[in-house]
Amino acid sequence: MPTTMPDSETKICQNCRASFAIDASDLDFYRKISVPPPTFCPDCRMQRRFAWRNERTLYRNTCAATGKPVISCFAPDSGLTVYDRDYWWSDNWDPFSFGTDYDFQRPFFAQFSELLRRVPMPAVFSTNTVNCNYCNYVGEMKDAYLVGASWAGENLAYASREDYCKDSMDLFGVMLSERCYDCVSVLKSSQTYFSQNCESCSACALCLECRGCNDCVGCVNLRNKSYHIFNQPYDRESYRQALAELRLDTQSGLAAARQRFEELKLRSLRKFANITSCQNVTGDYIANAANCRFIFDSADDVRDCRYCQNIASKAYGCYDGYGIGAQCELTYESFNTGVQGVRQCFCGTVYGGTDIYYSINCHNCMNLFGCVGLRNKEYCIFNRQYGKEEYRELRARIIRQMSDRPYVSKVNSQKSVVYKYGEFYPIELSPFAYNATVAQDFMPLSPDKIRSEGYTYREPEVPPYQATIAAQDLPDSIQDATEAITKEIISCQGCGKVYRIISKELSFLEQAGLPLPRRCPECRHQDRLALRNPMKLWHRHCACGGRGRQLNTTPSQDVVASCEGVVCQNTAKHFHGEAPCPNEFETAYPPDSPAIIYCEQCYNAEVV
Ligand SMILES: [Zn+2]
Ligand SMILES: [Zn+2]
Ligand SMILES: [Zn+2]
Ligand SMILES: [Zn+2]
Repeated sequence: MPTTMPDSETKICQNCRASFAIDASDLDFYRKISVPPPTFCPDCRMQRRFAWRNERTLYRNTCAATGKPVISCFAPDSGLTVYDRDYWWSDNWDPFSFGTDYDFQRPFFAQFSELLRRVPMPAVFSTNTVNCNYCNYVGEMKDAYLVGASWAGENLAYASREDYCKDSMDLFGVMLSERCYDCVSVLKSSQTYFSQNCESCSACALCLECRGCNDCVGCVNLRNKSYHIFNQPYDRESYRQALAELRLDTQSGLAAARQRFEELKLRSLRKFANITSCQNVTGDYIANAANCRFIFDSADDVRDCRYCQNIASKAYGCYDGYGIGAQCELTYESFNTGVQGVRQCFCGTVYGGTDIYYSINCHNCMNLFGCVGLRNKEYCIFNRQYGKEEYRELRARIIRQMSDRPYVSKVNSQKSVVYKYGEFYPIELSPFAYNATVAQDFMPLSPDKIRSEGYTYREPEVPPYQATIAAQDLPDSIQDATEAITKEIISCQGCGKVYRIISKELSFLEQAGLPLPRRCPECRHQDRLALRNPMKLWHRHCACGGRGRQLNTTPSQDVVASCEGVVCQNTAKHFHGEAPCPNEFETAYPPDSPAIIYCEQCYNAEVV
């Protein structure tokens, strides 16, 4: 629930009809970038942005210039002109040749959509990569397979949002780590498997919220511990023996250990949010930030930002960004932007540059409005260059026309949405099917709902192979797997679609002593996402009742019933004595989450 400030105004979202607040600092921000306040609520704005970003869905396509087959994030029937990545970055073609005069008789967004489909796009958005053919939105990367939205790495597979990792697979949000497998939001760790929210750990498996631990299995909330199994200490020798008995090299052993770990998770305290070294922030997965509201997954040094997700570092005064950072200021309603950028508004994949509005895939430019595919240009509108004064006048006229003759989406007889200056691009103009984008990862919709909202749904490609083995018939232990397994077509235990074990995966699992996965890479990715809380916030009280958990702070009665018997006793003295803790917070744990959620002070008192 957003806290309403006295000087805030409440608006009704055009898209979902929910009310949302705009406060004085918001208004101040919109003034700084010269846009009117939004008419979509923060959630709908997030969804709209996400529907323009495809990180992981790849297609076989053909370079329109060279005829060369390419792997692309754009489907062959998307209507876009796709160039081989290296050809796109060459000087062999001229983006101005696709330029056009602005037509004041037609809505801006309709004309922009046509320009977007005319100007060539690189097959994938990647820079400085070696042997990374199935990767999109990656940079400084070597030998990677199906890695998306990641920076710097070597010998990786099936990863999203990893930075500076090596010899690892099945990652989401993992940084500065090596030889890790199936981890979510793990930092500075090595040989860590099936773990979440851990930092500086090594040789750990099935761990949650552990810091500085080594040789731990099935543990939650441990600090600087070694040789623990399900939070119980062992000496070195008995640990080795107990670990061997768990048989984590087998699927059956792993499943049994996982079940005990899940039970321990339910009985364990959770901190209300993953927020460290921050001042005055709300959101989740934030470090070293100040004065930010509703931000998620931010790396470092972020100030005065709101409604941003996936921030690299050094973002100052930015609103509504996904994948922004590396030094940027005053960006708004943009994805994959920043890199020493200022005032990049309604932009996608814009690196560097100042005063870029409504532009996609333009780099190191200044003063653009409605441009696609430009590099090192200035004062351009619809890929035509103008004199400085002419540019200013034309830009101002277009902005007025965008409000006088807006683009209208007639979703159905009851719903139509009006897009004037100040709104991001409508979802139905996205070059991607909704279900191919990060919108489907974080705000999934059924095929019917996607269609009824007027968005594009594209049936995922089914590989034309017959399964040769069912996942449940794979060898239980990795010790019984041979190279022959890489030839098999396996039907996934989750979705039934076929997948393979690739060679590098097999040798990784053999070295790590972990069983073959029974679920396909896509199901595994969804499993990792499911471990995270949604990018939403709820206002809640600390669950600490003084001596331990107080059940009546859990909002839903069903949850209280399901938690009966899960008693959590405090072991330390808390600042509030034996009275219930008075602290309240914004948490991404949904109201129906059975987790026991403590404020930072109470959590830190117990977890030392
Ligand atoms: Zn809304
Ligand atoms: Zn599957
Ligand atoms: Zn508390
Ligand atoms: Zn307490």
